[in-house]
Amino acid sequence: MKVLTVATRRGELAIAQTRLVIAALKARHPEVEIRVQEITSAGDKDRKTALWDLKDTGFFTSQLEDALLAGEADLAVHSFKDLPTAERAGLAVTAIYGRQWPEDCLLAKQPVRTLHDLPKAARVGTSSLRRAAQLRHVRPDLELVPLRGNVQTRIDKLRTTDLDAIILARAGLERLGLTDAISIVFDPREFIPAPAQGALAIQTRSDDESTVAIVRSIDDELSRAVALAERQVLTTTQCGCHAPVGAYAECRGEIIEVLAFISDVDGRNMIRRQARGPLSQAVQVGERVAIELLDAGGREILRNLEKDQGRGDSGRVGSAHHSTPGAKGVKKPMVYLVGAGPGRADLITLRGAELLKIADCIIMDKLANPALLELARKDAEIVHVPKRIGPGSFTQDQVNRVLVDKALEGKTVVRLKGGDPCIFGRCTEEAMMLNEAGVAFEIVPGITAAIAAAEYTGIMLTDRRYSSQVAFITGREAEGKEETNIDWDVLARFPGTLVFYMGIGALPSIAGKLIDCGMSAETPAALVADATLPTQRLIQSSLGRIARECERQQIEPPALIVIGPAAAGDAGLNWFMRQPLFGKGLVITRDSAGNVDSARKIVARGGRPVEYPTLAIKPLTDRNEFLRVLAEFPGYDWVIFTSANGVRIFFDVLRELGKDARVFGGMKIAAIGPRTADSLEQCGIRADFVPEVFTGRELARQLIAYTNLRDKKVLLLRSEIASEELVEGLETGGAVVTNVPVYTAEPCKGDDKALIEQMRQGRIQWLTFASPSAVRAFFEQIPPEAVHSYSLKVASVGPVTSRELIQIGVRVDVEATEHTIDGLLDAIESIEKT
Ligand code: SAH
Repeated sequence: MKVLTVATRRGELAIAQTRLVIAALKARHPEVEIRVQEITSAGDKDRKTALWDLKDTGFFTSQLEDALLAGEADLAVHSFKDLPTAERAGLAVTAIYGRQWPEDCLLAKQPVRTLHDLPKAARVGTSSLRRAAQLRHVRPDLELVPLRGNVQTRIDKLRTTDLDAIILARAGLERLGLTDAISIVFDPREFIPAPAQGALAIQTRSDDESTVAIVRSIDDELSRAVALAERQVLTTTQCGCHAPVGAYAECRGEIIEVLAFISDVDGRNMIRRQARGPLSQAVQVGERVAIELLDAGGREILRNLEKDQGRGDSGRVGSAHHSTPGAKGVKKPMVYLVGAGPGRADLITLRGAELLKIADCIIMDKLANPALLELARKDAEIVHVPKRIGPGSFTQDQVNRVLVDKALEGKTVVRLKGGDPCIFGRCTEEAMMLNEAGVAFEIVPGITAAIAAAEYTGIMLTDRRYSSQVAFITGREAEGKEETNIDWDVLARFPGTLVFYMGIGALPSIAGKLIDCGMSAETPAALVADATLPTQRLIQSSLGRIARECERQQIEPPALIVIGPAAAGDAGLNWFMRQPLFGKGLVITRDSAGNVDSARKIVARGGRPVEYPTLAIKPLTDRNEFLRVLAEFPGYDWVIFTSANGVRIFFDVLRELGKDARVFGGMKIAAIGPRTADSLEQCGIRADFVPEVFTGRELARQLIAYTNLRDKKVLLLRSEIASEELVEGLETGGAVVTNVPVYTAEPCKGDDKALIEQMRQGRIQWLTFASPSAVRAFFEQIPPEAVHSYSLKVASVGPVTSRELIQIGVRVDVEATEHTIDGLLDAIESIEKT
């Protein structure tokens, strides 16, 4: 008969747990005799040390591991949560068993139902940083008292001392039959337990094949998946089991969801994240959550905790294993001096855009378009360094210092400058400082203002007929405020084009000096302000008159002055200002996801988009209903998407779950309208049927005309607030319809005062509406009379939206023929042209 020795900690709970494991082994291997060897662990001997002072993980487990390695035992039973994440060489966790009751519980002297029922400044016993942080997060007033000892001792302490409550793991209380003492079982999604809490780990020597085979028979796949996903959060964050880091995983069907948090000890700065994915990728899902936590500020929290513990050199909080300083995670300081281009956001280079996406820290010039920050990571640090005069402005020395400091913190820094970084950009000083500090840098060129201003106004800086050379000159020196290198005699005779940067203030003196040195007062001169933006202005005159003209028209910086024959320009080449939408303010009233798209399209036509989001799209894809339908794929005959939002959200979830378009199998797919079909195409799916209709009834009619739907299973993936017409129409055609909402749209509040102010200033010409719900949400905030009072024009995407507008009493000036954003803008252009 095979005899196995199992090592266990002393103590009632450890022994109860070991008995569970023995019973399970016996059930599968009745032929094996199992003996128990009780071992006193360091944690059991030392009852006083508060666990949050402990540096050694494995406090409860290492003696058992020693016994295994010494051959004194064949297997050891541990509470999985106590086992360090780094495995001891030669040992393996061969089975994970009995993950049940992962929750934490509160035991209170006086009955309570929630944490809020505890008296003010109540004394709560716990020796875990994780529990302490979560308690303090909810009840900062609580006094937390270190508490050690086995379950019974702790319960006794609650009774016999002045503690008001204690926190224990539910699993232990259940296994010892002590559940009567429980006041609150915390929802593990709210009060997140220790990773792998409740699960038992059965450890063997990895090369002991016969024991491995026996022990493996009780391995529970589901317990393994959730426990490993949770523990991965510790592994990835390099935390030990005593850190204020928690993780909880839950399975629904084939899908695992992991919730986790990192907190400071006070629970003041607590970051929570969650992620879902296929059960087969449990560990990766755990890793993903952990990375998100770290990126969202968790790294900072852990760094501070380490500092507080004065153990910055010995791995993470509560960790037993040593980290290798300078290894993974510590980046070489690097600064990118990037040109943002002249104004319009999409005139940045591809290289510049890529770097903005990865930057840890972006140091912004005033002239760089703030819209570029949409490319930045959500957690990127943004430092604005305006160099104007007045409060909040930065001297060049201060900018240099920020640059070097941020880089030396190990951050990837992008220094974003308007135009080209080296044309009047003080790039030299910044680059020299970086050299001095030993920080590497790269310079990414940008389109400088002169080039863009000329090309956006039909001025050709070079022309074989009259300008074979161009000079870029700073206007700052003209006023004599700075020492000057400018030779006005040479410039007055310059046979080409002169471009002055930073020159509006000094324009009279620039013109005067040139004329004094012999340049004709009739030389063409032009001024371009806000080049490439919808607010661009062009003033063309002569050298003798331009200063007065600019003063009369109240030109504001930034502006460039072009002098020479080229400045006469050619109206026929001024493509930008000729566009019908140029300079027009168009309000977009979509949800914020739709706004990005619409805004870009308006900018491309020279217009000025004014975003006024009226709806917030909220995915409903974590509902069981949705997940169940997904699990049934590809069991439908037809799937119908009715909006680009639906497509986007659906594919986001697929991606999150590690799946792709193959889930559709042979199902047929219908997409309402070209935009929905486009979105599907971007996800690699060509819709089988794309009716261009905008009512549910009409869609149903067309689909029935297109194919026989009798007894066909049809799945609708759409907004929760969509009309019933489509379902009814399809059912009339004999289809069996499953209607699953993938998102809903909730009204959201915009800055109505700011918008009305813009209307008052005459900066808004058009209101655009792409859905009836946007119409309703908008006019709940802005009085319909505003349309008349401020002479606004109104554009609608189609008949349904127009009907809604008319009902509210708003006149529709134009309705799109093609019911898309492009169609809407085409319609507006056709009116503006006439
Ligand atoms: N590095 C920048 C120039 C910085 S100096 C570049 O390469 O463009 C700042 C001056 O640039 C302003 O005073 C103005 O003369 C000019 N400038 C920058 N952006 C401009 C714009 N959008 N339109 C007109 N002039 C601009």
